[in-house]
Amino acid sequence: MMDYIGIDIGGTAVKIGLIDENGTVLKYNQYSVDFDGYETPILETVQKSLETFLEDFSINLDRIKGIGVSATGQVDSYSGIIIGTAGHIKNWIGSRIKEVLTLKFQLPVTVMNDANCAALAEKWIGAAKEVSDAIVVTIGTGVGGGILINSKILNGVNGLAGELGHFTIDCHGTSCTCGNTGCYEQYASTAALVRSFSEALNKGLFGATDFKGCPINGKTIFGLLADRNPMAEELFEKWLDYVATGLVNLVHIFNPQLILIGGGISIQDKLFILPLREKVLKRIMPAFGKDLDLKAAALGNDAGMIGAVYNCINHS
Ligand SMILES: [Zn+2]
Repeated sequence: MMDYIGIDIGGTAVKIGLIDENGTVLKYNQYSVDFDGYETPILETVQKSLETFLEDFSINLDRIKGIGVSATGQVDSYSGIIIGTAGHIKNWIGSRIKEVLTLKFQLPVTVMNDANCAALAEKWIGAAKEVSDAIVVTIGTGVGGGILINSKILNGVNGLAGELGHFTIDCHGTSCTCGNTGCYEQYASTAALVRSFSEALNKGLFGATDFKGCPINGKTIFGLLADRNPMAEELFEKWLDYVATGLVNLVHIFNPQLILIGGGISIQDKLFILPLREKVLKRIMPAFGKDLDLKAAALGNDAGMIGAVYNCINHS
């Protein structure tokens, strides 16, 4: 049986997996890419890491059909070149991933943005398996997304489509790393949630003395919410409104039958997914809600690698 290599290049690590034709991860490892502050270009680290991976698991390239790459930043998915990034990763823009890996490993290589890969993985073996039109929104430090239309990823002319973190929800709002103001991820990311809780904590607004001095993270936030802390509930509700606002806009543009929420926070069903679903359904025009569902994405950290392989199977 022939297998594929899935590579997910992130800002801190590259994940590499041996993945079969059904999307099962057979072997897996991850390697740091920021060990020297990106002085060694990420693409160089990726090549070395793949060599190490093949050697450590005694994988012969003869049994590999192709390499699917999922990458952070703006990826021209046709040429496989990084053409932009909203953050500031040194030596990353201009990386000719497809060309370099094809030459070195003599295999078909496909490259796609990580959020689009995650959406493809949900379509292949995850929670979007049975649907044709879905929006996958990953909520983490930033916000990423992938739009599935007719069971295919919406690419746009350069393969950049689905950059959901950077559509504007307040043109007079907070400055964003991309240079614009009021981008969705400045309001709907978990970083934004943590920021609002940290500010309130510094002002002593929670009143719960046992939280003083604690770092604000998912655990403290959901701990305060479980205790029905009024200030925490107010801040969370406000954040949830922002998350819902973006989704309502997307529903009206794309008329999906499913919205999948990914990212670590999506395991919070009762406090996050269910109230979010309710807010979205309440605010959209009724006809758009007729066949719409919203739930947590099914795949976790492997989604990028798995979706990259699915892209490779379909396009190489
Ligand atoms: Zn932005």
